[in-house]
Order: sequence, then structure tokens, then C-alpha cells
Amino acid sequence: MRLGDLPDQELRAALHRAADLVADYLEGVGDERVLPDLRPGEIAARLPAAAPAEGEPLDRILDDFETLIRPGVTHWNHPGFLAYFAISGSGPGIVGETLAAALNVNAMLWRTSPAATELEERVCDWLRQMVGLPPEFRGHINDTASISTLLALAAARHRVPGLEVRERGLAGRTGLAPLVVYGSDQAHSSFDKAAMTLGFGLENVRRLASDSRFRMRPAALHAAIATDRAAGRLPVAVVATAGTTSTTSVDPLDEIAGICQREGLWLHVDAAYAGSAAICPELRSLFRGWERADSIVVNPHKWLFTPIDCSVLLVRDPRRLVSAFSLVPDYLASGEEQVTNLMDLGVQLGRRFRALKLWMVIRAYGVSGLEARIREHCRLARRLAEWIDAEPEFERVAPVPFSTVCFRWLAGATPEEGDRLNERLLEAVNAAGPVFLSHTRLAGRYVLRIAIGNLRTAEEHVQRAWEIVRRSAAALA
Ligand code: PLP
Repeated sequence: MRLGDLPDQELRAALHRAADLVADYLEGVGDERVLPDLRPGEIAARLPAAAPAEGEPLDRILDDFETLIRPGVTHWNHPGFLAYFAISGSGPGIVGETLAAALNVNAMLWRTSPAATELEERVCDWLRQMVGLPPEFRGHINDTASISTLLALAAARHRVPGLEVRERGLAGRTGLAPLVVYGSDQAHSSFDKAAMTLGFGLENVRRLASDSRFRMRPAALHAAIATDRAAGRLPVAVVATAGTTSTTSVDPLDEIAGICQREGLWLHVDAAYAGSAAICPELRSLFRGWERADSIVVNPHKWLFTPIDCSVLLVRDPRRLVSAFSLVPDYLASGEEQVTNLMDLGVQLGRRFRALKLWMVIRAYGVSGLEARIREHCRLARRLAEWIDAEPEFERVAPVPFSTVCFRWLAGATPEEGDRLNERLLEAVNAAGPVFLSHTRLAGRYVLRIAIGNLRTAEEHVQRAWEIVRRSAAALA
């Protein structure tokens, strides 16, 4: 048996074929159904139950990729993918991912890849400048916003005087006041998950009722903090959102920052989706006040055309993260001073070279190219909002500050019947094939949601989505 890796020629041939597969896929993805027409278990049933005893040629495996795997994916790269927040597998991002896989560095320490560490610091600083944040913010890359928010709240917890949770933990301690965190009822569920993980407990997550435009109400925040303090609880942090998941509403960040400052609370801004839009000067004012935050998360893998995963956590004082997380066993002591060891900034030790793809994306499109693409998505969303507003059978149910539109079909004799009909409408639209939309609930009602953010989505795709919605509604009626 031959040991070692593939023969060079075989690898080269497979990479050339993979390059063609990628290019052909992206060229033709728009002709596919967005959602595969499959029942659960159908793919698994076509796969052997056990691993092959002998190695197989890569060509055969790539054949199976084409026949077995590709038909079973949901096409996030499809221009009709308008559900959730989009992720673009953009050309430069794909090239960056490929090269990162080849280098396969683990950027845990500066020494284990100086280029990965220094490029990560540099591209995060580019992003900081692009979105107009002051130079004191320092960024690093995590896999997801969920982890970035978890790390931010861990740093907030670590800052609480006398808590010493790092040494003493939380369980079994008497006389410890409950630690409370605040967000609106529109904050993402990753906020609750972080509170569960960090021992705050869901009971101590205050989900404040938002206003009629789905924004946190500062007066409610103020009152909740006062109530908790009066009851002997310990307010720790506020998670404000710039671009909520359901409607993309923006909490009044400046007022919230003022409250956090007065109350000594950590302010984390979840700008996972909308943060990238601050690249556009005309949208920057929506973020007023975020420069006063302690931490901010922006996901280039949402609306900056970078393949998943890539989430940038910007922290005003990175020493807060370091003091919460740095732990250097003998075998990881590197002796270098004046360097960043990325392992010090969070839970994980090993980390991928994610900065490479972000670097390629930013360089390939340039700031002006990124700005123009985001601006176009916002224009498309406004256009869609106009079409909905002009249609008496539909109601737009939230403002459109960015590129996501929420609306409801005005059907059914009661609100509950309306919910059921809107749910059936969404099923019918998604079953049609060319588009994939999502839903949410607002003020208790089921609403449809179109989120534009894929690099390949153009006006014709949004128009088609709207036509399918109208046609499907007419058919159901
Ligand atoms: N925050 C907001 C506002 C989101 O919309 C999402 C996901 O859509 C997240 C956080 C979680 O993102 P991730 O999947 O990167 O953890």
C-alpha cells in the first residue's frame, strides 16, 4: 500500500476538476430549485452505512459529489435565496477558503502562523475603518456571531467587581446576587444561549417589549434596571441590536449607551447582519451611538460576501477579553512579547485562517464595490416595499431600514385564520422552486419575510419572488 498523500498529479487533476465544478455550479445555480425536493433521510439512504475499506480515486468521489451531494443542498448561493440572512460564496471568498485549506495553519499563537495573526488584525482594522468606528476598537474573527456575543458577555461578567467567576465559578456560592442581562424582545436567540451558557440563567434575561417599530425602549430599559437593583439583583450587560433578525430594526444605540454608561453596564451591539451597511455613508447615522459600545459584532459572512464562517468581534478594550480567557500552559508558552496570540481572546485554542478570505473579498471588490453592492440591495428592498404598499391585498408590517421586508397577506376572517393562510402561502411559494422566503412572528402574527443580501440577487429575482407570492396567493384564494 502506498503511504503519504495523493500523488501530485492526481491532486492537481482533482483541483482542476474542482475549479470547473465550482465555476459551473455558480454559473448555473440560478436555474436550480433553491430548496431541494427531498424527504428527510433520502440522502442518508443513498450513502453507504460504513466507510470504504480501500481508498477510492478522487474522480469517482467527485462524480458522487455531483450526483449524490450537490442535488441535496439548499442553494444559499442562489439569487432567489431570500430567506434568513444571505451568505454569498463569492469568487474571492471561495479562492481564499481554498488557499486557507491548503495552508491549513492553526493560528492559535502568533508563532504558529505570523501571517494569519497579523492579517487577521489588519483586516479587522480595515473593517473597523470601513464602518466608521474609532481606532480604539480592536477586532478578531470568530466562527459565528453566537460565539462573538458569548465572548463579549463573558468579558462583561469578568468585569463585575468581586465576582471572580474565573477562579470561584458560580455554583455553590452563597450570597451571590443574580446577574441580569438586558435586550429587547427582538434580540437574537444567541443572546439567550450566551446567558444560558455563562450561568446568568434564562430567568435573568430581560426581554424588554419593543416599541411599534420593533426597537428597544430606553425608558423600559431604565425601569428594568432600577427594578432589578431594588430587588438586590446585579445588572451586568445590555445587548442592543443594530439590524434585528425579524425586521432589521435598530435599537436607539446612543440613548442605550448613555444608560449603560450611567449604570456601569457593558454594552454589546449585535450588528451581525446590518453592521456591514455602515460602510455606506448614507446609512451610517442609523448606527449613531455604537461607537460608545464596549463590544460590537459584525458578520462578514452575512452581508459582506464572505463565505461562512466569519464573524468579527470588535472590542473597545481587548484586555477585557484577555483577562477573562488567557490561560497559558507550559506547552503553549511561546516567549514572544509584543505579539497577539489569538488563543488569548476566547475559548478556543485552534483557529482557522479566516482572515484570508475576508482579505480577498475586501481587496477584490474594494470599499466602493462593497458599498455599491450593499446600497443596491437596499434599493431592491425599497422597490419591493413599494410594490407591496401598492397592493391592497398585502400589508407591509415593518419599516425597511436596510434590505429586508416583512409583509402579510390580508386574508382570512380572523387574525388566526390569517396566520394559517400566510403559512400556507409561504409553503406554496417555497414549493414553487425559484425562490426561498422565510417567516417570523410580529406582534403575535405570522408574517412573511424577504431578506435580500446575496451577491447574485438582482431586480429580476426580487420581481420574480413578488410575482410568485401574488400568484400563489391568488391560487389559494
Ligand atoms: N444576531 C443576529 C441579529 C442575527 O440575525 C443572527 C443570525 O441570523 C445572529 C446573531 C446569529 O448569527 P450566527 O449564525 O453567526 O451565530
